[in-house]
Amino acid sequence: MTAYRKIKKITRGIRTQDGAGVKLVRVVGYNDTGDYDPFLMLDAFDSENPEDYTKGFPWHPHRGIETITYLIEGEIEHGDSLGNKGVIGGGDAQWMTAGSGIIHQEMPQAAPRMLGAQLWLNLPAADKMADPQYGDIKKADIPVIAEDGVRVHVISGSYKGRDGAFQGRYIPATYLDVEVAAGAGWVLEGRPGDTLFVYLVSGSAAFEPGGRLVADHQAVLFEPGDALYVEAGAGDLRSLLLTAPPLDEPVAWGGPIVMNTRDELNQAFRELDEGSFIRVGEARE
Ligand code: MN
Repeated sequence: MTAYRKIKKITRGIRTQDGAGVKLVRVVGYNDTGDYDPFLMLDAFDSENPEDYTKGFPWHPHRGIETITYLIEGEIEHGDSLGNKGVIGGGDAQWMTAGSGIIHQEMPQAAPRMLGAQLWLNLPAADKMADPQYGDIKKADIPVIAEDGVRVHVISGSYKGRDGAFQGRYIPATYLDVEVAAGAGWVLEGRPGDTLFVYLVSGSAAFEPGGRLVADHQAVLFEPGDALYVEAGAGDLRSLLLTAPPLDEPVAWGGPIVMNTRDELNQAFRELDEGSFIRVGEARE
């Protein structure tokens, strides 16, 4: 008999503002780092009121992490201090390796609805000062695998032997957008010791046959196990599933910069003050 993963922790998150006043729910954050390793943060956006988000995230730095932005609906304009720019549209994702350092802005545009999430993925100590790099992931390049009552969008990693649109270079994180029709069930096998969590975008779900329902807008972190069981509640379920091997390295986190030691963090902020933060950049059109 398959040993399904048991729920370790349910994270409701807190309503907060970030950037120049973007209203969001910080589902996973600073106090969750040990449990969610190598995932650092998950900010969820869900608004039909542009005033909630169009103030955006003006110029700010990152170092030592990757930020992965995925929009189910909406649009974010992106630009950085090296002149790179682009648009993340509905169904698109951006996998940004900040590495040694990027200074960028992320500006959501008014839309009927902005629905999506930004994930922060830690970088291994050996790769924290890697060259910055962008992965532009277009909706058309994200495979959608349809099964009985289930649609799995494979953003990164692989699912049932099918490669996703992107492969993480430093942490092989699997990122799936999983739709399960009301009452239908789904099982994800494998990756028994990897960290695994699910964020419920909309709809409720049970995680064992006949189990109690967990409501939407929460993240559910699981114990190790051979397989994950998901059963949609009375409504259709939309969920984001993240899984990756943990790093098990020390975390020194200061705002948008995440290093391994206090000294490395201090050095990063000193470089920001002195104007020597940006080491190298990859130009793109
Ligand atoms: Mn950012």
